[in-house]
Amino acid sequence: MLPEVRLGRHCCAPSTNPDNYRPLVGDAMIDEIRTLAQDLAGVRVCQINATAAGGGVAELLGRQIPLLRALGIDAEWRLIHRNPAFFALTKSFHNALQGAALELTDTVRDLYLNRNRDCAAMLDDTYDVYIVHDPQPAALRAFAGDQRARWIWRCHIDSSTPNAQVWGFLKPYVEAYDATVFTLPEFCPPDLHGPRLVCIPPAIDPLSTKNMPLPDGLPQRVLADAGIDLHRPLLLQVSRFDPWKDPLGVIRVYQLVKAQCPEVQLALVGAMAGDDPEGWGILETINAEAAHDNDIYVFTNLTGVGNMEVNAFQHGADVIIQKSLKEGFGLVVSEALWKAKPLVAGRAGGIPMQFPDAYQHFLVDSVETCAARVLDLLENVTMRKQFGHAGQEKVRRDFLLPRLVRDELRFIRDLVAR
Ligand code: UDP
Repeated sequence: MLPEVRLGRHCCAPSTNPDNYRPLVGDAMIDEIRTLAQDLAGVRVCQINATAAGGGVAELLGRQIPLLRALGIDAEWRLIHRNPAFFALTKSFHNALQGAALELTDTVRDLYLNRNRDCAAMLDDTYDVYIVHDPQPAALRAFAGDQRARWIWRCHIDSSTPNAQVWGFLKPYVEAYDATVFTLPEFCPPDLHGPRLVCIPPAIDPLSTKNMPLPDGLPQRVLADAGIDLHRPLLLQVSRFDPWKDPLGVIRVYQLVKAQCPEVQLALVGAMAGDDPEGWGILETINAEAAHDNDIYVFTNLTGVGNMEVNAFQHGADVIIQKSLKEGFGLVVSEALWKAKPLVAGRAGGIPMQFPDAYQHFLVDSVETCAARVLDLLENVTMRKQFGHAGQEKVRRDFLLPRLVRDELRFIRDLVAR
């Protein structure tokens, strides 16, 4: 059997009681979710991905599975078996689906297919619906014998302009699915035919320790404990250390801002994801840059920055940056806006859809524009507040967990009924 991720949260946790979301998303949404869950009683759902820790997919599944279970849905989360060579390879597939170059050799093909074949042989075939996330386990469906279940491939990547060779290799395996889910219609490679296509954006959990309201003074205590000067402005980016998140670009933005506003500080908070071997080299480069400047702070999940600390940093920052060059969705954007924080972000993938309409000019395409917009915000506290408020309302309306659960349950019900 593939290893199961057991989250340890019980149904008595406030965030696993669907009714606790009612004040945030309204009664109609929760009533519909409960009806959908009743319609799906007895249906067994298995979510499969590559890692239980780090990155948006692990974040999403960790919040979604307990809520589904509290709704009475028999949902489980399983991981594919993997090793460092396989993860180096699948990270390069991830980058290639975003358009990066990659030499696809026979050795690479064999490693990918053998690992997927072995994992398929370990699959329990008693589920009714399998939801397989991203390219790492995408070939599972082709190797699984089960013809009775429904199979969904959930792609979290902006794969609108994929590397042709890698997509050509993966495409037949994706076409073996009954359905595919992308965040936006334009992310679906234009030549993908066969599976049903549905678009469902991700969402954040407002009741999680990462997103819940914090008592007055707590964010400041956390920042002070990290050595940050509470009397000077703080810029923040929270992201995996990944070239597409452009952490070095963020440092350049900070340097340009500092030339105008010498008191500014920068915190880079970065998780090392279990399936992302690229992060270590990038962290080393960032640390080398930060070594020259006492106002740059670098923190990771390996040195005690967990969900609660991320929450405190997001609450305590003056301006949040998400300078992504490519981005599937960017949960961190909704996380920041949910805390009513102003944000300057790369005009990439799923980020613009999260911005309130009146603030789209804070989407940027260069280091220079990013620095200029950050300075605008630092100089105007009223604009920061108004932007933050508009962002929070946008997230409340479109990007909270019950909406995601509703969309997925609607879709699963439809698929199972066919
Ligand atoms: N994250 C975290 N600690 C960090 C960096 C990131 O907990 O040091 C979380 C972040 O809060 C978000 C997720 O990791 O919930 C990243 O998801 P996103 O969709 O923004 O990016 P991905 O890593 O999936 O590309």
